Amino acid sequence: MLRWGMRILISNDDGIYSPGIRALAEVAQGFGEVRIVAPDVEQSATGHAITISRPLHLHATPLDGFDAYRVNGTPADCVALGTHLWEGVELVLSGINLGLNLGHNVWHSGTVAAAKQAAFLDVQAVAFSAPYEGTPPDYELLKPFIRDIIGRLLEEPKMPLVNVNLPAQPLGMRWTRQSVRHYEGSVVPGEDPMGRAHYWFAAYPRTGAEEGTDRWALEHGFVSLTPLRLDLTDEPLLGEAKRLEGGTEVSV
Ligand code: MN
Repeated sequence: MLRWGMRILISNDDGIYSPGIRALAEVAQGFGEVRIVAPDVEQSATGHAITISRPLHLHATPLDGFDAYRVNGTPADCVALGTHLWEGVELVLSGINLGLNLGHNVWHSGTVAAAKQAAFLDVQAVAFSAPYEGTPPDYELLKPFIRDIIGRLLEEPKMPLVNVNLPAQPLGMRWTRQSVRHYEGSVVPGEDPMGRAHYWFAAYPRTGAEEGTDRWALEHGFVSLTPLRLDLTDEPLLGEAKRLEGGTEVSV
């Protein structure tokens, strides 16, 4: 249900000064009261890490008139802290990430993790990502789609966690599943100026994704919406294991 004046917390993994977070906050303010709590420096690909070995600090960092705070922590830290300090948050939005979060990258992504942390806390959440090739996409083109998605998901409380990826110029929207057939990550060897071997963990985008997946949608110019779940249990395998064992007890 649309709850006018609801509290909306915004975070990301690119850091509080990213142009993407401002674009997302600008759309969100049409739906309620907006507060930004985001990492003080970039935390891309930190996944769902949380900080447990040092204290976290929150610094007010007014951003174009938005109520905003920077935190010396991870995206998940920011959402945990943001919802703790601002009572009654009903929606968490993460992004807009500078770069797509498709397929396996959903596991690496700090953008998705911020949304996941909200889902852990029983707060509805949406992660937004868009392509980044040296410059951000034209957010004015993406804003109507983001506005439409937020409006739809608020009407659909059964969608507690959704991963959204937007092409630079969307042709439409598709519900998709996560593509995990081809892993993009690669270890690339190199040499530093002193002749020592070093390595880069790099991503090589792969094409030819299966129809109906997040990657397929983006390859065809569509916005991809993937509902995610928190329970990673492989249900068919669990059923199979139980069937083989004749119960839930594991014999050793
Ligand atoms: Mn990022």
